[in-house]
Amino acid sequence: MSASTHVRFVLVGTQHPGNIGAAARAMKTMGLARLVLVAPEKPLDEVAFRRSAGAEDVLGDAPVYATLAEAVADCRLVLGCTARSRRVQLEELLPELAGQRAVAKAGEEGAEVAFVFGRERTGLTNEELQLCHLAVHIPSDPEFSSLNLAAAVQVMAYEVRMAVLAGQVQAPAETGFGEAPASHAQLEGLFGQLGDTLDQIDFHKGRSPESAMRKLRRLFMKAEMSEQEVRLLRGILADAQRMARLAGEKPN
Ligand code: SAH
Repeated sequence: MSASTHVRFVLVGTQHPGNIGAAARAMKTMGLARLVLVAPEKPLDEVAFRRSAGAEDVLGDAPVYATLAEAVADCRLVLGCTARSRRVQLEELLPELAGQRAVAKAGEEGAEVAFVFGRERTGLTNEELQLCHLAVHIPSDPEFSSLNLAAAVQVMAYEVRMAVLAGQVQAPAETGFGEAPASHAQLEGLFGQLGDTLDQIDFHKGRSPESAMRKLRRLFMKAEMSEQEVRLLRGILADAQRMARLAGEKPN
């Protein structure tokens, strides 16, 4: 089953090891095993293993990364789960559709998919949400919107399972003209160079660069670009950077 091997659940900066154990259990009940941790506040302890209640294998196998960027570097689709609706300028999906999109993407050749969950107290930072292609919000009561971390994991894992059971794995989507889709790390390389270029051509003119970069990231994340398309754009940026350097050199 593609979903169990190619869909990972990433817990970022978790504060209570017990929640990590409960999340492992929630995943295993839905046939998912790829738990990934990013800089948990405390190491896994006895409470974590107790709360995993039989999902010790999922818990014990979970790799630990220092940053979210590293944990999703090879992913083609990254879904950020957020308790606060519309906080970020990302397209926001209901869990059911997110599960379907994840399973469809995971059915594509070589595609890896991640669901990302934030800290118990503060959720995901804006920088972390910017690494996501889409946001997912469980439509909870706006007056009391925050589920327990493991409960949110359970809802998402359930929707992934429902999508798998419904046999909704789509035929591989066309990416460009049969070209390999760009990885997350390749897109981040493009965004880094784009940011530098906009500075060098004085695009911002004293305005803060964040808003423009957020919109540009969203635009390019939506485009599902191939590796070749990213290379083409980076070539154009390199030329713009060269021209900006030449223009900056004072004539004799
Ligand atoms: N106080 C935090 C909530 C953190 S709950 C905040 O306001 O952001 C821990 C994590 O569980 C969240 O980061 C999110 O990934 C997930 N979560 C909790 N409630 C959710 C909801 N209604 N929809 C989607 N994810 C949710």
